Amino acid sequence: MAKILCVLYDDPVEGYPQSYARQDLPKLERYPDGQLLPTPKNIDFKPGDLLGSVSGELGLRKFLESSGHTFVVTTDKDGPNSVFEKELSDADIIISQPFWPAYLTAERISKAKNLKLAITAGIGSDHVDLQSAINKGITVAEITYCNSISVAEHVVMLILSLVHNYIPSYQWVIKEGWNIADCVARAYDIEGMTIGSISAGRIGLGVLKRLKPFDVKLHYTERHRLPEKIEKELGLTYHDNVESMVSICDVVTINCPLYPETEHLFNDKLIAKMKRGAYLVNTARGKICDRDAVVRALESGQLAGYAGDVWFPQPPPKDHPWRTMPHHGMTPHVAGTTLSAQARYSAGVREILECWFENRPIRNEYLIVDKGKLAGTGAHSYSAGNVTGGSEEAAKYK
Ligand code: NDP
Repeated sequence: MAKILCVLYDDPVEGYPQSYARQDLPKLERYPDGQLLPTPKNIDFKPGDLLGSVSGELGLRKFLESSGHTFVVTTDKDGPNSVFEKELSDADIIISQPFWPAYLTAERISKAKNLKLAITAGIGSDHVDLQSAINKGITVAEITYCNSISVAEHVVMLILSLVHNYIPSYQWVIKEGWNIADCVARAYDIEGMTIGSISAGRIGLGVLKRLKPFDVKLHYTERHRLPEKIEKELGLTYHDNVESMVSICDVVTINCPLYPETEHLFNDKLIAKMKRGAYLVNTARGKICDRDAVVRALESGQLAGYAGDVWFPQPPPKDHPWRTMPHHGMTPHVAGTTLSAQARYSAGVREILECWFENRPIRNEYLIVDKGKLAGTGAHSYSAGNVTGGSEEAAKYK
C-alpha cells in the first residue's frame, strides 16, 4: 500500500462553497489536436465543484482509501517545519499543483527515500528539480492539455485588458467616479498591432488561433517550427530567435515552459530590444522574467504594461514588487485552475494513479521524466536541469 502526499491551495476564506454559480460544464471529449480528455475508470466528484483546494482533495480520498492507501492532504508546504516537509520522508507519491507548488528541491528529494512518482495536477513541472528526479529514477507526470485552453483564453483576456486599460477603468467605478479621460488616456485598440508568441505549443497555438479574428499581425518563435499549412491558415510569421521577434512586436505573450535556458530570458537586455511601449503578458512562469527588470521597464515606460498570473516564488512575499509596480494586471496563479480545468486535471490525476497502481503505462503525453530521462512531453518541451533555486523564499509569505 502506498502513501500519497498531496499539497493543495487553501479553501476560500469564507469556507468551502455550498453552491455554485453554474449548474453544469460543457461536455468535451477531445482537445483541439485530437488528444482524448482524461479517461479514468471512474470519478468520485461532480465536475464543476471546487476540487483544487484542500477540502476538494481532487476528489481522490474515496478511491485511494478504499484501496487501502494512505492519503495526506495539506496546504502547509513551505519551510522545514511544514506538514509537507514532515510527511515527505515516507511518501511514495507526491501530488502538487503549479498554483501552490510544493517545491521538490534536491534536498527534499533526498529526504523522500520512498518517492517514486511526482504528479503535477496541472501543467508545468518546473517546481520539481527535474535533474534530481532524473538522477533518482523518479517518474514525473503532468496532465498535458488539461488547462492549456483555459490559459489561452486568459491570455487573450489579459492582452485586451492591458491594451484597453480595463482594470484602471473598473477601479474608477469602484471609486464612485466617472473619469473617462483618466480611463482612456492609456487606452488603445489591438487591431493592426503586431503580436508575438514565445512558443506555439498547446497554449501558444491556442492564443494565436484566438487572436486571428482580431485583425492583428501574428508572429511566433519556437524550437520546432509549425507545419506550413498552419502558418498559412493563421497568417503566422516565424522567427528562429526571440530577439528578432520581440523587436517588432507591440504585444509579446510568453507561453514556453520554464527550464534552465528560459530562466530570466526576459532580462534588462532583452526587454531593451523590445519596442518602446510594448506590452508583455506572461502566464507561463514568473521566473522566465527577471523580477526587477520588469519593474524598471514599467517605471521607465519601456513597457506600457505587464500582466500575468505567475510569480516566483509562489506564494510571493507580501512585499514582492510586482504587487505594486505601475501599469500591471497581475493576479494570483489562477488561469489554469478554473472549475472547468479542475474537473479535467482531477480526472487526469486519477487516471495516472489508476495506471500506476495497476502497472499499466502512463500515457506518453503525460510524461515529463521517466526511467532516468526526459520522456514524452518532457522530451519535446523541456530541457533537463533545475530551476527551483530560491524557492525557499516562499516560506516568507507565512
Ligand atoms: P506545451 O508543451 O504544449 O508547449 C510548450 C511549447 O514551448 C512547446 O511547443 C515547446 O516547443 C515550446 N518551447 C520550449 N522552449 C522554447 C523556447 N525557448 N522558445 C520558444 N518556444 C519554446 O505546453 P503548454 O502550451 O500546455 O504549456 C506551456 C507552459 O505554460 C507550461 O510549461 C507552464 O509553464 C505554463 N502553464 C501555465 C498555466 C497557468 O495557469 N498560468 C497553466 C498551464 C501551463 P519546442 O520545443 O518545439 O520549441
